[in-house]
Amino acid sequence: MQHLDTVTARVARFGGSICCRRPQLADGGPGTFDPGTRGRGNGRILDDGGRLSLRRRNLSRLLGEVHTRGAQSRSDLAARLGVNRSTVASLVGELADRGLVSERAPLARSAPGRPSPVVGPRRDGPVVIALEIATDSLAAAVVALGGEILESIRVERRRGSQDPSSVADLLAGMACPLVERFGSGRIVGVGVSVPGVVRREDGFVHVAPNLDWRDVPLRQLVRDRLPVDVPVLVGNDANLATLAEHIRGAGAGMADFVCLWGEAGLGAGIVAGGTEYAGSAGYAGEVGHMPVNRDGSTCRCGARGCWETEVGEDALLRVAGLDASGGRDTLDALFARADAGDPVALAAIESVGAWLGIGLAGLVNLLNPTAVALGGVYARLYPRVRRSLQRELDARALPSARHAVEVVPARLGQDSALLGAAELAFAHVIADPSLVPATVRSGRPHRRPSVGRTEGGEPAARSTM
Ligand SMILES: [Zn+2]
Repeated sequence: MQHLDTVTARVARFGGSICCRRPQLADGGPGTFDPGTRGRGNGRILDDGGRLSLRRRNLSRLLGEVHTRGAQSRSDLAARLGVNRSTVASLVGELADRGLVSERAPLARSAPGRPSPVVGPRRDGPVVIALEIATDSLAAAVVALGGEILESIRVERRRGSQDPSSVADLLAGMACPLVERFGSGRIVGVGVSVPGVVRREDGFVHVAPNLDWRDVPLRQLVRDRLPVDVPVLVGNDANLATLAEHIRGAGAGMADFVCLWGEAGLGAGIVAGGTEYAGSAGYAGEVGHMPVNRDGSTCRCGARGCWETEVGEDALLRVAGLDASGGRDTLDALFARADAGDPVALAAIESVGAWLGIGLAGLVNLLNPTAVALGGVYARLYPRVRRSLQRELDARALPSARHAVEVVPARLGQDSALLGAAELAFAHVIADPSLVPATVRSGRPHRRPSVGRTEGGEPAARSTM
């Protein structure tokens, strides 16, 4: 199995280009980013011949290791990075000065010689704001290095068409109190997950069928409403869920991995040879629109017989004779009926499981992954469709590829896409830890006198939308 070098590499390969307002270091206050400050003796490591850039690369690799794998001893880090212990000590010292990692004494001596201090991500250091627009809910979270969610809020919302500006207002209404509480100076990035086709360079959403969105400048809408001036990055929900599952979930350590993700729609992220397969323009992974049934129903995309029309949540509910747009409550009702032995409900679940297996057989033959993770509504469905799915997969996938693959539920639960958004938001710091000022001594909330723009800043998002 191949391992990617660092989480940065993974994020970069997932289209996490850092293209907006890349923060420069500020001379101003502790732990603050000042995107308007450029080159004012801020201590950032510059590429100088190669020696300094090598150091920056090592800082990035070390922070990536600790971020991805959690706390580990200096000697383990030295072995993983292929550097000597004094270099690790120096790198750790710099990352600690920047408030990114902390050290503690080892719990027990594991080897002869001097005990090696344990280095871990600092949970009271820099954080990111992760935002998720899902079909049935909106979520906002503060996430620390190491992927720990420090605080989050998720509110249910009515499914269907929503004005993009109103959604951005509601997200800001959820995020602003978090920014206030944690202090704008600790926030180093914002990541947004959306169930749509996203142009990665500028977070422009071409289309999000389940929100009824077309041509929405989502990054701009979010950035204009937040009281922080840090990079804001937008990603497709399936791609971000895959990113998170690949870093610390069902696909950890796998070079060839597929994650299906969906609520009303269905998408996938594909990792092939350790790298995201993004396609020529970054729009690969729309497996929901893979044609599987010439005589199938018309899809939201306008074509007929897409995979989504057979396995989407609305298809499941429709076949069961329920309101196809009913969302989670209706799905719960369907599961309750199935548990009570209702034959129509059981047949609908069986049908969706079979169609899932048919489509998966195609993906498995095409991509030969080590694992396929089912996330979102498919993680909930998995125990119920496992048998019918595997029956079709066994019958249709080539034995060589079938034997190599495991189909598993996603491991990060409902938060996969939210955590992927956090990874996107952390990418620039992990790529270049020297962006965080060495004066950071975090843990003290840095309160701003005002939260800046306040449209949508009221906690209206706490109520059901
Ligand atoms: Zn379609």
